[in-house]
Amino acid sequence: MGDVPGLPSPAAGTDRAPLPFDVIIAGCGPTGAVLAAELRLHDVRVLVLEKETEPVSFVRIVGLHIRSIELMAMRGLLKRILERGRQRPAGGFFAAINKPAPEGLDSAYAYLLGIPQPVIVHLLEEHAIELGAQVRHGCAVAGFEQDDEGVTVELADGERLRSRYLVGCDGGRSTVRKLLGVGFPGEPSRTETLMGEMEVGVPQEEITARVAGIRETHQRFWLRPFGEGVYSVVVPAAGVSDRAEPPTLEDFKQQLRTIAGTDFGVHSPRWVSRFGDATRLAERYRVGRVLLAGDAAHIHPPIGGQGVNLGVQDAFNLGWKLAAQIHGWAPEILLDTYQAERHPVAADVLDNTRAQMELSSTEPGAQAVRRLLTELMDFDEVNRHLIEKITAIGLRYDFGEGPDLLGRRLSDIAVKQGTLYGLLHRGRGLLLDRTECLTVGGWSDRVDYFGDSTAVLDVPCVLLRPDGYVGWVGDDQQDLDNHLSRWFGKPAH
Ligand SMILES: Cc1cc2nc3c(=O)[nH]c(=O)nc-3n(C[C@H](O)[C@H](O)[C@H](O)COP(=O)(O)OP(=O)(O)OC[C@H]3O[C@@H](n4cnc5c(N)ncnc54)[C@H](O)[C@@H]3O)c2cc1C
Repeated sequence: MGDVPGLPSPAAGTDRAPLPFDVIIAGCGPTGAVLAAELRLHDVRVLVLEKETEPVSFVRIVGLHIRSIELMAMRGLLKRILERGRQRPAGGFFAAINKPAPEGLDSAYAYLLGIPQPVIVHLLEEHAIELGAQVRHGCAVAGFEQDDEGVTVELADGERLRSRYLVGCDGGRSTVRKLLGVGFPGEPSRTETLMGEMEVGVPQEEITARVAGIRETHQRFWLRPFGEGVYSVVVPAAGVSDRAEPPTLEDFKQQLRTIAGTDFGVHSPRWVSRFGDATRLAERYRVGRVLLAGDAAHIHPPIGGQGVNLGVQDAFNLGWKLAAQIHGWAPEILLDTYQAERHPVAADVLDNTRAQMELSSTEPGAQAVRRLLTELMDFDEVNRHLIEKITAIGLRYDFGEGPDLLGRRLSDIAVKQGTLYGLLHRGRGLLLDRTECLTVGGWSDRVDYFGDSTAVLDVPCVLLRPDGYVGWVGDDQQDLDNHLSRWFGKPAH
């Protein structure tokens, strides 16, 4: 998968060239910051290059869904994020169909965490730096070359830096992906939406009355008070420009008049932006020593609020595998399981956003399907399936034949020492052994052992990978050893 004729194909265990950095990450958005932190947990020398000197000016609220919240808890980060975010009900996200989440979702964190994107990015970057990552702002990656031993990264000002690997976490217009020549097939934007914060010139009652009527058919329309007389305004654009520059206040006024019959006297914008519904997926996530993650690898419309979540989960999947490759204990194919596992997940998210966009169309047929799905969501199983999809707690990686738990996450169950996730802060593998008879033997430098006969689990013993997914279930030492080798390479002794 990562092996391309003519390009270097680093072999596991032989990758110890003395270069200044092990990994350079292009882009310090949510994906790049989380990846840097995950690599630092394994003592990988990381440099993050971020082209912007200042944090982004727009303060759009993003939602962390259940699986991402769990991952934050798993690394001991949730408390500080909760202090800056707001908990909201988990339901109502699939195509913005207003249904509460079903009872008894299998998570200790069954809510949505709304937080301004610049705040979450800052917290994640701060965490990565605390763990020892270097982050340089005002440094845009402009080029790179890879060879047998590493990658030479060239910055926009001509400076050249060496590392063993480069990961493009540089967003949807990724320079790294383009330079890598990786295809990005999919659909261009068919619709665009204007979004911003501004003051209004009419009373709240008038806005409430008009907006309620319009939202019955237009999902991409709202004016919501944001505090201190400022409103969050979202309105469909006149057409598709596919431009990076922000829209003007006049663009907003015109579109508000077209759809609502009034521009609500909007003025004094705090920030304005636009987004499209282009849907694309990178053909490959790795070429030799260069990898892609987050929006650099996949873009889709924001409906359902899954982009940050998908990127953060890419980073959790990749971090420990790349660290294993760098430290020389990765089994031969481990790094390529990153694409094998994450590409289908992204393809599924792209599909569900396509479906959600259809359901949000104002066409009569689409509206009829929306009404039908709204009825169907009264069935618990339908509602549960959709919410487990959006929140990623229903995800099961294909690890081959095995019990249903294999390839799934474990929720944060109570254990003798507190909670399961509390045992995963260091980002290592974990054997949770209810039989208290097994051992991690020669893998104890990579995998923690925890025996607890009282743990509430339906199976005798599970092996968790560092990203919290079940890599083995059973009670036989030989079978366990085989799976320890599968995920963690050769034993140390
Ligand atoms: C209106 C809207 C609402 C959204 N709401 C949600 C939501 O509720 N929940 C959710 O999960 N997602 C949401 N998203 C999606 C989410 O914002 C993105 O998916 C997410 O930001 C992707 O993170 P990333 O780190 O992969 O990329 P980005 O956030 O794009 O970060 C990439 C970084 O790379 C930097 N960069 C770019 N080029 C270079 C270069 N050459 N060299 C160095 N640095 C570079 C950029 O400056 C940037 O900091 C929303 C998106 C939109 C438009």
